[in-house]
Formats: sequence, C-alpha cells, structure tokens
Amino acid sequence: MQQWQIELQNCVRTVDELEQYLSIENKDRVREVLANMRLSITPHTLNLIDFKNPNDPILLMCVPSDKELRFSPEERVDPIGDEAKSPIPFLTHRYPDRVLVYATFFCSLFCRFCFRRTKTGEATPGPSVEDRDRIVQYLEKHPEVDEVILTGGDPLTLLDDQLEDWFSRLRSVPTVSRIRVHTRVPVNLPSRITNSLIEMFRRYSDATHPIYIVTHFNHPREIAAENIEAIAKLVDAGIVVRNQGPLLRGVNDDPVILEMLFKKLANIRVVPYYLHQLDLAKGTNHFRVPIERGIEIMRELQGQVTGIALPRYVVDLPGGKGKVPLMHRYTQKQTDSNYTIESPFGECVEYHEPND
Ligand code: SF4
Repeated sequence: MQQWQIELQNCVRTVDELEQYLSIENKDRVREVLANMRLSITPHTLNLIDFKNPNDPILLMCVPSDKELRFSPEERVDPIGDEAKSPIPFLTHRYPDRVLVYATFFCSLFCRFCFRRTKTGEATPGPSVEDRDRIVQYLEKHPEVDEVILTGGDPLTLLDDQLEDWFSRLRSVPTVSRIRVHTRVPVNLPSRITNSLIEMFRRYSDATHPIYIVTHFNHPREIAAENIEAIAKLVDAGIVVRNQGPLLRGVNDDPVILEMLFKKLANIRVVPYYLHQLDLAKGTNHFRVPIERGIEIMRELQGQVTGIALPRYVVDLPGGKGKVPLMHRYTQKQTDSNYTIESPFGECVEYHEPND
C-alpha cells in the first residue's frame, strides 16, 4: 500500500475521532449534519489546523458545523444545474466544446461548503464500466467536444489502474485534445502526487494533447512544504496547473489574504484561474459573501496584484445557465466616441473610439 493510501485510511471520519482534537458541544446536531454531508479530514490537513482558534480558516473549511442544518429558500439541491444539462449519467454537457465527467464522488477531504454535496455528501456510487463505455460513445458522437473535464468528487482519489482506464479510453477518442482534472488532492493529500502518477500523466499527454490540473487552494496557509513539492512535480512534468476556489466568509474574504494566496500560488507556478462566488448549495449560506463585497475586494486587488496572479471573479448561474464574470464597472460611455475609464488607482481617464 502506498503512503497516500495509508493516509486516506487514517483520516478523521467520525465525531468521536474529531473530539480528540477539539471539544464538540452539540454532538447530536453535528451527527445530524454528517448524515447529509460526511466527514473526512486528511492527516496532512489536520496538521495545518490551529485547533486552539475556533475561527481558524482551515478548520472552518473542514470541521462540520450545525450551521449546515440551516437552509435558506434560495439554496438548491443541484445549485448549478449539473443534472439539467446531463444527457447521459455521469456526464454534464453545458458548453459546446467541453463536458464534465464524474469519475467518482469520493474525496480525500469533504469541504463543508461543497457545491456538489448531495453527491459527495454520502457514498454515491461512481460510474460503472457500462457508464464509462456510454460516455466514450457520447464523445465519439460529439466531435465538437475537444475537452473533457474529469471531476467528481476527486478523480485523483481513484487508484492508478482506474485512472489509467479513464485516460486510455478518453485518449482513444481522436477529437478529445485536452483532458482536465479537477482535484483538491494537491491541497489535502499531496502524497498522492506520486512518481507513478506523474509517469501516467506523461504517457497520456504530449505537445498537442495536454493534461491540465485545476486544483483548489483557498487560503495561503494551505500552501505548505509538501504541497509545494507536489506542485513542483506536476509542473516539472509539463502539466499546466491552475487554481480555482470560492470566496468564503471568514476564510478568504479579505484582500490581504487573497493577495497572499494569489501571489504564493504564482510563486509555485500555479496560475490563479477563477475565484468563484459561492454556489447556492443547501446548508452553505454561512460561507456566502455578498457579490457586492466580492466585487469590492477584486477592485482593491486590481493594480495591486500582478496580472499573472489575478484570477477572474465569476458566478456559475443557477439552473445550468453558465458562468459569467463579476466585475467593477470601469467604463462609462460619455458620447458615441468617448469613454471615461477608471484607472486601477481611481483616476478617471478619457479614451476615444476610432474615427471610422
Ligand atoms: S474537493 Fe471538491 S467535490 Fe470534494 S468536497 Fe471539496 S468541493 Fe466538494
């Protein structure tokens, strides 16, 4: 058994195990929470939590709270309409050129704000061999799809053989150029980035058929020595690594924290890609930051943070309607040929349109 598998076996998964680290007052309520959204905290992440601080940002992201039992009317079981845009099981086709494929609904650590919690929250079975065959047939019939996003859950919690099955089947479809893997393993279980996994990525990618990793760091303290090592292995193997994650109340809704996060990511060669407005998943309202505040934070970071480290702030619209950027309004049209545009430093500057 490999180190990462041993660590997975040693995750904190029950209220009693959690109690070895902090005292839990309302155990019954927390057990009620776990009936809908299971618990797992990896040993790596346990070591990063400051259990003396009840507001520790890493603790807030992974320790269950009875606030998850409070539902607001706008919250949904399927907040971004994955099901509405799912022509066959385990596949979502929302945009013309790419599909999401759910390889598993298991994760090494279950984030308390998970937007797919109705699937990840309990032991939902992943795709069978027949489901996988159906997915490959779908891709063969849809040559307009040139990118497959392996997601879940966390695909990198699958064993190497299982992952190899996915990669070899996906690479058998000539119209699929890019394979993207959405994973939080480089954050919570960095030992999973083994040499054999890197070799597999090399086998299934080349100069025009890349594998992209999109990972999910939310706070600068999540970037520890082991994480830096895991990312370096990926980038040194030619894998492009990007980061996306939500704006979370009490965790990273602060321009100073986000600046540190984005710059630390850029320093370890991870491109900050998206900062998400939190989806309307049931029981996550306590993590949600108002859009107005999110826009304000990004306005503060514009000009302050180098463009190579500044992600786009986006919202995934409910009902599967797609993702759009949220941003401060910099431009104002004065006349047909004249704009006033706000500079990063707050100055108003005139800009003229071309004459013809
Ligand atoms: S890693 Fe992603 S899918 Fe898994 S619990 Fe966290 S947010 Fe949900």
